[in-house]
Amino acid sequence: MNKLNSAAIIWLRRDLRLSDNAALYHALRSGLPVQIIFIFDTDILNQLENKNDRRLVFIHRALQTVNDQLKQHGATLHTYYGKPVDVWKNVLKDYNVEKVFANHDYEPYAQQRDNEIKNLLQSHSILFETYKDQVVFEKDEVCKADGLPYTVFTPYKNKYLSQLNAAHLKSYDNEKYFSAFLKQEAKHLIALSEMGFIEDNILFPKNKVDNSILKKYETTRDFPAMDATSRLSVHLRFGTVSIRQLMMQAMENSAVWTNELIWREFYMMILYKFPHVATGAFKPRYNTIPWRNNEQEFEKWCHGNTGYPIVDAGMRELLATGFMHNRVRMIVASFLVKHLLIDWKWGEAWFAKHLLDFELSSNNGGWQWAASSGCDAAPYFRIFNPYEQTKRFDSNLEYIKKWVPEFQELTYPQPIVEHTFARNRCLATYKLALQEK
Ligand SMILES: Cc1cc2nc3c(=O)[nH]c(=O)nc-3n(C[C@H](O)[C@H](O)[C@H](O)COP(=O)(O)OP(=O)(O)OC[C@H]3O[C@@H](n4cnc5c(N)ncnc54)[C@H](O)[C@@H]3O)c2cc1C
Repeated sequence: MNKLNSAAIIWLRRDLRLSDNAALYHALRSGLPVQIIFIFDTDILNQLENKNDRRLVFIHRALQTVNDQLKQHGATLHTYYGKPVDVWKNVLKDYNVEKVFANHDYEPYAQQRDNEIKNLLQSHSILFETYKDQVVFEKDEVCKADGLPYTVFTPYKNKYLSQLNAAHLKSYDNEKYFSAFLKQEAKHLIALSEMGFIEDNILFPKNKVDNSILKKYETTRDFPAMDATSRLSVHLRFGTVSIRQLMMQAMENSAVWTNELIWREFYMMILYKFPHVATGAFKPRYNTIPWRNNEQEFEKWCHGNTGYPIVDAGMRELLATGFMHNRVRMIVASFLVKHLLIDWKWGEAWFAKHLLDFELSSNNGGWQWAASSGCDAAPYFRIFNPYEQTKRFDSNLEYIKKWVPEFQELTYPQPIVEHTFARNRCLATYKLALQEK
């Protein structure tokens, strides 16, 4: 490798696109030739149990797209594999690095990783510049008048919207500066098989949503049999879309969909300001609920064999596709925690393993909402009745028939627990645990 390649390095992580990417914009305007790198991080990969983890397939395809675009400009993506701190020592050997650019990453692991890299770069007198990109508002940017974080969604959302102006949503016109990419021969993109993973021919949702879906979103979003939500969550997770462009589209087409994008940032803010939620209840007294944690029941829930068709349909959809409709996520989560009295952290971990769009903040927020232990959560006595939910949101059983075709046959299991009994057991358990505090 020719060590004379003096460069600004842009390190992609969860911002896998060239257009409207904040850190890339600043790198391209730095006056230095710009080299893009991506690290297949073994600290993360080694924790993946499935060798055909589709999130990795998604990332790999997104990187191929980036690489194809770079090739058109005589440039190339440089991929590495290993622990970030070790990889960076190699990057410093491969390039004469003058500056490093990246976008903010807010999760606890990412912050710790970035601090480590910042220190390493500092010891070589290299600046590490980071930018806001995956959200419209980050960290303390939407807070109460006294500077404290909001813990209830509606006032947070109102403040968010009152602050929002066109400047926040302005796109970075990166394309204008693409001539600044470091020109070099195409490099080999590390293949999934080289890392011990398997390709999958899964079709991912497209990275656009039609305005016609957003216009009807308010009335159709809760019906899981309809193709009525954006399916953009995996793209938001890995940055294959720009939040600024989506927020603009949201504001022009649907106030309710706008709220959903704000929920995403609300939960990110909560995780950032209250990192204890990653390991326990937002409201600590809910850590004392005496969960039953029956392993056989958990297994049945995981694989869609509870005898509650709407729950089983959701769990089977998750296993088959890596996706589950939001209404059904709420139903299955409530069922696990309240009907079966199984620790929400077990469900959270199962979702984390299987959701294509797994996002620590939203997943944790969704689970703590269902368990009533979160900020702005459902009160503990709110227990979804799966049969009523089915009547309201899947009245002609279209969704259930798709995922549990045998639900009316003798082979289909009896309900794992009777609804009213489970409801009363849950109410008594929560009441007692919370009263004792
Ligand atoms: C128990 C539980 C776990 C969840 N885990 C995740 C997760 O790991 N990752 C994830 O992205 N979402 C999670 N959600 C939120 C929500 O279910 C998904 O974002 C949504 O179903 C994705 O489908 P969509 O892209 O079609 O969403 P749309 O309805 O089109 O919404 C647009 C976008 O808004 C955001 N959004 C929507 N609803 C929520 C919400 N309630 N909280 C936070 N952001 C939201 C997402 O980024 C979504 O892509 C969870 C919800 C629950 C109840």
